[in-house]
Amino acid sequence: LGGSISRAIQQMSNATVIDEKVLNECLNEITRALLQADVQFKLVRDMQANIKKIVNLDDLAAGHNKRKIIQQAIFNELCKMLDPGKPSFTLKKGKPSVVMFVGLQGSGKTTTCTKYAYYHQKKGWKPALVCADTFRAGAFDQLKQNATKAKIPFYGSYMESDPVKIAVEGVERFKKENCDLIIVDTSGRHKQEAALFEEMRQVSEATNPDLVIFVMDSSIGQAAFDQAQAFKQSVSVGAVIVTKMDGHAKGGGALSAVAATKSPVIFIGTGEHMDEFEVFDVKPFVSRLLGMGDWSGFMDKIHEVVPMDQQPELLQKLSEGNFTLRIMYDQFQNILKMGPISQVFSMLPGFSAELMPKGREKESQAKIKRYMTMMDSMTDEELDSSNPKLMNESRMMRIARGSGRHVKEVNEMLEEYKRLAKVWSKMKGLKIPKKGQMSAL
Ligand code: GDP
Ligand code: MG
Repeated sequence: LGGSISRAIQQMSNATVIDEKVLNECLNEITRALLQADVQFKLVRDMQANIKKIVNLDDLAAGHNKRKIIQQAIFNELCKMLDPGKPSFTLKKGKPSVVMFVGLQGSGKTTTCTKYAYYHQKKGWKPALVCADTFRAGAFDQLKQNATKAKIPFYGSYMESDPVKIAVEGVERFKKENCDLIIVDTSGRHKQEAALFEEMRQVSEATNPDLVIFVMDSSIGQAAFDQAQAFKQSVSVGAVIVTKMDGHAKGGGALSAVAATKSPVIFIGTGEHMDEFEVFDVKPFVSRLLGMGDWSGFMDKIHEVVPMDQQPELLQKLSEGNFTLRIMYDQFQNILKMGPISQVFSMLPGFSAELMPKGREKESQAKIKRYMTMMDSMTDEELDSSNPKLMNESRMMRIARGSGRHVKEVNEMLEEYKRLAKVWSKMKGLKIPKKGQMSAL
């Protein structure tokens, strides 16, 4: 996919005159690529029409960078399609909220419920899990196992077969226990679809959730729209979570889910483990969809952010897949020098809204400085190692003492490092364009 889009844009940039024919050819190529990424046909068609309206051919003829203009228009259009125009319902910490998860069997509901609970627990919420899936054998055991691992209270039954009854009992119990995030996991059986949707309607009616989250497997393909719509018609879906984004799927179905439910994507699942869960960030997602990674924008940014003499070395290291703590340190330093940095952050892969939430740049900057202070207490060996096992407890204690910070903070910094290293490891084997070739994508 990435190849074909790059090729399309490349072909265009090689053409001397950009006329309507070239623009059409380019759009057709991109259409094919987006369809391959499971974006619904109708959505692709809409996008195509919009791009034609936005991209003014006269502007292109006069403009300096045609490739950039079209690329940006496509990018923006896709970003807009992922924005339903209203944020998902925001829950309040300390006030009991009920969140119901729906989605087909295998989509990742039970796993995602726990991730969602764990994520909020780390942020000071008091979550609890209720297993209202009485259909799948072993459903309760699975939830119980996950919940126990994350130390999250849970409720379910081996005997009771009425999901509505269990859901209501669980929600009531946890309301009494002052939990502020009561999560109801549901069944997603495939076979009797009508019965499934009726069951969802009943569970929703009985527990009156503040938010219903539709969980979607990123690899379901063109089925995404109908599936999301079917759930939306039986319960009031207010948000979407896309799972298995660590696989091959580009997740074009997410556009369909947003269109069908008129709700935003709030998180993505990136693995089977509890912490493989990320706040959804539109731009990197669209980049992935287009198969450009963030590379085109990222490469441009690297040229702006990283001092010229350090660029080849950095790119070389990244292509070898060695993202060390020292690289992270250098990146932080460059970023702090930049001034208004949220923009740069949004381009760098992995430096998502998590590390640099919009409107909270000051806090984030302070956090980065704190991280750097701790890294100043690290040895060369530690900074240059790419062995994750090196950082044992005694080393962490020493760093904490040396920098006057808490071990918990050192751990937090190392977690951030691991997260970034994982993202950057995808650059391994990246073909590094030489300078000058860069502008041709
Ligand atoms: P449910 O039937 O909707 O409750 O789905 P489960 O939570 O049982 O998940 C089905 C399978 O998908 C399990 O094997 C999970 O480990 C796996 N899974 C869930 N989310 C992810 C993800 O983000 N990445 C990967 N690789 N696997 C996932
Ligand atoms: Mg389940």
